Amino acid sequence: MLGSHVGLSGKEQFLGSVKEALSYGADTFMVYTGAPQNTLRRNLCDMRIPEAKALMAENGITEFVVHAPYIINLGNTLKPDQFKFSVDFLREELHRTTEMGSRTLVLHPGSHVGEGEDAGIMQIIRGINETLDADTEAHIALETMAGKGSELGKSFEQLARIYDGVIHNNKLRLCLDTCHLNDAGYNVKGDFEGVLAEMERYFPINQVACIHLNDSKNEQGAAKDRHENIGFGTIGFERLCAITRMPEFANTPIILETPYMSTEEGGKDRSLPPYKAEIEMLREGVFNPELWKTVAETQKK
Ligand code: FE
Ligand code: FE
Ligand code: ZN
Repeated sequence: MLGSHVGLSGKEQFLGSVKEALSYGADTFMVYTGAPQNTLRRNLCDMRIPEAKALMAENGITEFVVHAPYIINLGNTLKPDQFKFSVDFLREELHRTTEMGSRTLVLHPGSHVGEGEDAGIMQIIRGINETLDADTEAHIALETMAGKGSELGKSFEQLARIYDGVIHNNKLRLCLDTCHLNDAGYNVKGDFEGVLAEMERYFPINQVACIHLNDSKNEQGAAKDRHENIGFGTIGFERLCAITRMPEFANTPIILETPYMSTEEGGKDRSLPPYKAEIEMLREGVFNPELWKTVAETQKK
């Protein structure tokens, strides 16, 4: 399954998200339940969920994932209020995820904000334990992080430590972000099989509930986290395309989170989504920068 992250806003709400995914030729997608930078959320009954579900069913979309807002930080040991807010909000997000019809909520594990890896990981475990109970339906997919600043989850070893501390860890899953793995030091470009083998020292492959397919602007190990368009970065088209064809991930939502394009070459406006072109290139298996211009032209109209 191949798709991209899509918006959720305005009158159309979740129905608009599904329409946007279909406009890219996607058969899955990822959505934030509102703006990713804040935690203002609509009531579920105002999100046009039944219409969105009907449109998905009509078009054979059987799976999608939800991404928690990135201001949630379960790793924060310095601000108790913020930690409590994160826990409460995460619980609501899990409920929204289920109501919208998804079984996967992608979460950045958290940052230790200077207090050190051990303290941060302990706090993340505590936060997840306060969030999940035996009746939680959706899974939390912990995303592999680039290791920028004090981010945790930059290695499978760290993610395994979190799993080990979580009581209901049968409700945890993984989200592999190719840009983050590269930036964290894993050899995605040259030896992705080796990266998976390293993962399998800690997790069976069926723990992967989502893949974020992004090229990277930076070299392996840069600890930066700057996504690049497919085929224009340091990982390259060949490897990223090969990942979309792996039988192990045939039923895994593979989600593009690549930057928007500009209307003019070298322009700064970044107003055009690249996803229709990227999905087409990945499906065809051919890197074709010309396709960009064509897609950009049709989207300007
Ligand atoms: Fe993410
Ligand atoms: Fe990601
Ligand atoms: Zn990222």
